[in-house]
Amino acid sequence: MSLPPIKRVLLKLSGEVLMGEQDYGIDPAYVTRLAEEVKAAKETGLEMCLVIGGGNIFRGISGAAKGLDRTTGDYMGMLATVMNALAMQNALERLGVETRVQSAIPMASVCEPYIRRRAERHLEKGRVVIFAAGTGNPFFTTDTGAALRAAEMGCDALLKGTSVDGVYDSDPKHNQSAVRFEAISYDQVLADNLKVMDATAVALCRENAIPIVVFSIREKGNLARVLAGNGVQTIVKKEA
Ligand code: UDP
Repeated sequence: MSLPPIKRVLLKLSGEVLMGEQDYGIDPAYVTRLAEEVKAAKETGLEMCLVIGGGNIFRGISGAAKGLDRTTGDYMGMLATVMNALAMQNALERLGVETRVQSAIPMASVCEPYIRRRAERHLEKGRVVIFAAGTGNPFFTTDTGAALRAAEMGCDALLKGTSVDGVYDSDPKHNQSAVRFEAISYDQVLADNLKVMDATAVALCRENAIPIVVFSIREKGNLARVLAGNGVQTIVKKEA
């Protein structure tokens, strides 16, 4: 199934994909691989925004399970996303792609604060804008941060690059007969509690009619294929 015409996209990468084959943290070689994907997609003429999670470094909820205050853990998680954003910025700029990082938590000596109109200007100038620190608020996720920024920036689609090549009716890692959806509605994702993005993010996309495209970023060249309409993916939209 092909995508609607797209000029501006927001690509959401979970922190885990930055680990490559490691169990934790950032594998710079793998981040370079991801940056090459972003560069190739951008060179097709798209305006690109990026949101990267922090799960490869820290998740507030895991900290809370071990006795850390949840809000403190969440702020630590948001700081982890800034580290990932800087790693991606570094990889992209080494490939000659101009970027700016904007953080929802201001940190003046590290990156710009999030200012929508400024981000707009960067995109017009052909820069990739990496939005860091999620929404800037605890109890949210970077999926919701991605949906929020996609809505604010008027993106035509939210691309979610993960380790799985779409949305399945059950977990394909545990069930060999799991079936992948070509397309599925926001309502079904929410009603069946399918693991696409968290419910807040899906609801925000539904309200703003932003299609969510779930695909595997681990397969080389897949981002460009998905954008060209010949990749393997699931599209979440109003009517499946
Ligand atoms: N986080 C938060 N508010 C946000 C975005 C993220 O508190 O708006 C925290 C939260 O603790 C989360 C962590 O940052 O667990 C890392 O983000 P996320 O789990 O979304 O990363 P991903 O799973 O995409 O790697």
